[in-house]
Amino acid sequence: MNYDCMVIGLGGMGSSALYHLAKRGLRVCGLDQFGPAHAQGSSHGNFRIFRKAYFEHPDYVPLLQAAEELWRQLESETKASLYHRIGVLLSGPADGEAVSGTLSAAEQHGLTVEAIAPSEAARRWPLLRFPETHSVVLDADAGILAVEHCVARHLQRAADLGAETCFCEPVRGWRLNSNSVTVTTDKATRTADTVVIAGGAWSRSLLGAKLPQLQVLHKLQLWHTVDRSSLSGFSELPAFYFETKTGAFYGMRTGPAEVKLARHTLGAKLTDPSNPGDAASLEERDPCVEFARDFLPGIVAQPFRTSGCFYTKSPDGHFIVDHAPESSRIVYATGFSGHGFKFASVMGAALADLATMGRTNLPIDFLSARRFQ
Ligand SMILES: Cc1cc2nc3c(=O)[nH]c(=O)nc-3n(C[C@H](O)[C@H](O)[C@H](O)COP(=O)(O)OP(=O)(O)OC[C@H]3O[C@@H](n4cnc5c(N)ncnc54)[C@H](O)[C@@H]3O)c2cc1C
Repeated sequence: MNYDCMVIGLGGMGSSALYHLAKRGLRVCGLDQFGPAHAQGSSHGNFRIFRKAYFEHPDYVPLLQAAEELWRQLESETKASLYHRIGVLLSGPADGEAVSGTLSAAEQHGLTVEAIAPSEAARRWPLLRFPETHSVVLDADAGILAVEHCVARHLQRAADLGAETCFCEPVRGWRLNSNSVTVTTDKATRTADTVVIAGGAWSRSLLGAKLPQLQVLHKLQLWHTVDRSSLSGFSELPAFYFETKTGAFYGMRTGPAEVKLARHTLGAKLTDPSNPGDAASLEERDPCVEFARDFLPGIVAQPFRTSGCFYTKSPDGHFIVDHAPESSRIVYATGFSGHGFKFASVMGAALADLATMGRTNLPIDFLSARRFQ
């Protein structure tokens, strides 16, 4: 079994890379240890926030503009509705990272966001409580991506374009040959000219010790019911991100009377993502329930469902996308640090460029592993 390229890991990033490689007419094969669009990694839980006025760093903005176009392209190719432009509200201290970073990214890139007084925000969105000391910004040109559907549509489209996919087949190792790479699983040995590794929380076991230090955090997503008395205007509620004294929390509508909440900061450190145990439930649940009580008084504070999920944090919180130090035949993407899904569409294109041409015109230089040397 010989391929132009193989993709190890078919989650958010790998499913997109497989699609972009197949679209270029290459003979490609993707492998995952679990089933398609599974709930054991980092790409599950109904929705992910998409924003372009990016407080994490303004250098991401051009990538986000390209990402949005590619999500729209995937929607039109698969006739699926994946991106819902419902807006995102950011609330926090004026000098905090979220509000000041959003305003400065918007100013630098000519994007429109709206500053709103907390009292006005409370009038417009009665489900949320905005402290008087907070500044509030509405990014109306933002929204949410249907996360599992995005992964499934990338996989489906890749298969339509001729990609082979193998699920429930963990990769046990890979080896460099003079002109190819051999990838081994319990079922088969395959070779390819190049390999893309998008292993999420398992990146270290796939890429080895030469990778910059990564920390895997076990996070919890919590689904809550909205009180019937608080449903007025609920269908207009944007997604939201709050910077509070106990951390940054975010959430969004996931059904006619339910919201999903999670904490972005902190999290339970994990050594083995294959055995997460209940670390996340123990560390994350109480702060999230407290946030729900303080900031969403119109919901039932006790969640009716929870689901664990992994953040793979790089040392500086920014992504790592590069060739492996051993060889340009290996390309990898990791360290998405809890904010990567919105980029999956464009990261797949960048990985396909690196694997096939050795370089990309997409502005990803700032994400190279060279910054840690
Ligand atoms: C609770 C939560 C909320 C988030 N919210 C947002 C948000 O609002 N906006 C946003 O942009 N981002 C968000 N993120 C971050 C985003 O979801 C991740 O950055 C992104 O999904 C990471 O994708 P990935 O492809 O790196 O990992 P994954 O999707 O986990 O994919 C890695 C894949 O590699 C496979 N794999 C690993 N080892 C092997 C092996 N040996 N053999 C075969 N397969 C293997 C795994 O099974 C998995 O399918 C959130 C993350 C979490 C956990």
